[in-house]
Amino acid sequence: MKIIKKREKSKLLIGLNYLDKRTKLNDVDKRYLISLEKGFEGEERFDALVKTHLNGEALVVNDLLIESKGNTFQIDAVIITYDTIYLYEIKNYNGDFQMNSGQLSYTNGQEITNPLIQLKRTKELLRQLLKDWGTPCRIEAHIVFINESFTLYNANLEDPIIFPTQIKEHFSGINAKCRSMTKQASHLANKLVDRHKTDSVFQKQLPSYRFDELRTGASCPCGSFDILLTQRSCYCKTCYKQVSIEELILESVKELKYLFPEEKLTTALVNEFCGQDVYYRKIRSVLQENFIAKGTTQGTFYE
Ligand SMILES: [Zn+2]
Repeated sequence: MKIIKKREKSKLLIGLNYLDKRTKLNDVDKRYLISLEKGFEGEERFDALVKTHLNGEALVVNDLLIESKGNTFQIDAVIITYDTIYLYEIKNYNGDFQMNSGQLSYTNGQEITNPLIQLKRTKELLRQLLKDWGTPCRIEAHIVFINESFTLYNANLEDPIIFPTQIKEHFSGINAKCRSMTKQASHLANKLVDRHKTDSVFQKQLPSYRFDELRTGASCPCGSFDILLTQRSCYCKTCYKQVSIEELILESVKELKYLFPEEKLTTALVNEFCGQDVYYRKIRSVLQENFIAKGTTQGTFYE
């Protein structure tokens, strides 16, 4: 098994994490952030199971956002073997659910979107794309309910669902069927990665914010402001990790560049963003070491 594309947090999730730390998100955005985080945790759990149980010759491509003929579709994970593409939609739901004539709901009756419908659409769009590329391939699509505290009543036997108790067995089945990879399969994996769009469209979905509304201050990469700064290092009282001042400054720069991509990066701006918690001279030297200085002496900025 070889991972061709690793999973990373989406830009939207990163942005919401930053804003959650520096502003008070409204209830809708906060709930959205929690659901994105939960989804991401579920996907990471799936990745760990792939690493543990999938050992046949296969290529793994995670987290694709593909646009084809005006349709955008997102795929949580793809496993490519010599003759089949396995497509996965991962759901980290927990609690008791029921399926009634194609409708998914909590057992108290509250309905939610049926992921089987989404899966069908994704499978069809992928099938068309592969056909357009002249590489038609057998596609097997599954919903994976990854959370061990998930129960579904009334599921149909023929629905392409993998429950937590079946995941290991599912991968064993793939291992048993694996043959030597073909060039075509690895070509296909690379083509899918090339086709992946970075999710800049998502930035539009962030709630609006202004620099002067944000909480300033140096913070640990875990998000906590409860830190102890010395001349060389930063100790976090929340996650108990220690990072160097340089790492702390670079983390703030990353955040600043993400939230304000249009702003010129200057020592003064970083200093303000860090709430003047860090030595000004240290900020300047870190910027000098890691970026290229532009502009005049009075108006130096970094790129
Ligand atoms: Zn921390």
